Amino acid sequence: MKYISTRGEAERLGFEDILLAGLARDGGLYLPESWPTLSSETIASFPKKSFAEIAVEVIAPFTGDDITRAELARMAEEAYATFNSTEVTPLHTLKPGLTVLELFHGPTLAFKDVAMQLLARLMDHVLAKRGARATIVGATSGDTGGAAIEAFRTSKRVDVVILFPEGRVSDVQRRMMTTPKEKNVHAIAVRGTFDDCQALVKGMFNDHAFRDRVELSGVNSINWARIVAQVTYYFYAASRLTGVKGPLSFAVPTGNFGDIFAGYVAKKMGLPIDKLIIASNENDILPRAVETGVYAMKGVVPTTSPSMDIQVSSNFERYLFEASGRDAALVRSLMTSLASNGRFELGTLWPTLKADFAAVSASENDVARCIRATAAETGYVADPHTACALVAAERVPQGETVVLATAHPAKFPDAIEAITGKNPALPKGFEHLMTDEERFEVLPNSLDAIEEFVLRHSRVASGV
Ligand SMILES: *Cc1c(COP(=O)(O)O)cnc(C)c1O
Repeated sequence: MKYISTRGEAERLGFEDILLAGLARDGGLYLPESWPTLSSETIASFPKKSFAEIAVEVIAPFTGDDITRAELARMAEEAYATFNSTEVTPLHTLKPGLTVLELFHGPTLAFKDVAMQLLARLMDHVLAKRGARATIVGATSGDTGGAAIEAFRTSKRVDVVILFPEGRVSDVQRRMMTTPKEKNVHAIAVRGTFDDCQALVKGMFNDHAFRDRVELSGVNSINWARIVAQVTYYFYAASRLTGVKGPLSFAVPTGNFGDIFAGYVAKKMGLPIDKLIIASNENDILPRAVETGVYAMKGVVPTTSPSMDIQVSSNFERYLFEASGRDAALVRSLMTSLASNGRFELGTLWPTLKADFAAVSASENDVARCIRATAAETGYVADPHTACALVAAERVPQGETVVLATAHPAKFPDAIEAITGKNPALPKGFEHLMTDEERFEVLPNSLDAIEEFVLRHSRVASGV
């Protein structure tokens, strides 16, 4: 399997290379040259397979010959053994037709672990094969950073530097990034927003001399391997809920558009999906685009679902490429317009977007009301990100709907306590998190300052 860039001006590469590259050299995102589909016999075998076994079936067509099935199976087994549920992503039915898919049973209590635990193993495997090392830089709106630091902290081949927006992540989120003691993981509080952090990461990738000097690699959801690893749980949910017979709809708490794009990929691979519902908080660039046909940036407002407090959804570029019939020239012109004018018109892509997705923006009031009502009616406490998707599922009534629960409520204890009056307890195993010593750097929103920090800490750059 070869991969091409959404901007059409980067080299075609195999899975191992795009795994390490993250962003393409022309500034675009990688996508497979063609979409593999799973046979109906393969899909029909899923109800009897474990999560890790389903992962192998879903991911193997994308890794091609680069990684053997046996190696992939071993890495998947190890990755999902770190979860505190034998089902890995258990389902919880709230009422007939409405089921929550809990993606937060990994080591940092958010869905990012599902992909990151596998990604770290894939990267170490490929680097070991090549006798190479890498430096990972990533931007986080809260959860990616902890998941990356947790997944890579035992890596001998990778240094990780995570940028998070100062004061805009929860204490639990920050502590998951700042309490691991290993010397190869670093957290930086940037004086800026998540979008500033994301722009800094893009800036480092576009600085080719710097990029080569530290063997820069990315683990944001622009990394294709993460999206692929997230496709698994769409198939898993269907296998447990309907035996992959009737179509399901999915409501997905959406920020960077990675998670919901994985659902779009699952559909392309043959999973019967009815509606894909984009659930946003008050940062509603995607619902506005679906409603008006214009994708236009606006300032970020902080909400109780900080992992979705972003103004640009990076992975939307992948969708634009697909929706336009893979027109890289069009994608380039839309992205140029976004960079210079902060907006672009969807034009002929608008009807396609409306056919592929429904979209709902949940206000802070909607979220609070939904968390309280769900707890009162079913006893289930949803975190604020999950609540956005519960609100969306309610507004876009469908047949059987699965709501992706992307974080454990205890990851956002202040918000949950303010809404329900009760402080959600952290699960077993997290007793030390709130008292362990923290270690992090505070830096200005400046590419020079961040690059200087990375050069000082990367073992690739310093050669030690
Ligand atoms: C990252 C994150 C999201 C958004 O996912 P995207 O793939 O960026 O759309 C939603 N909820 C939580 C809890 C997250 O950590």
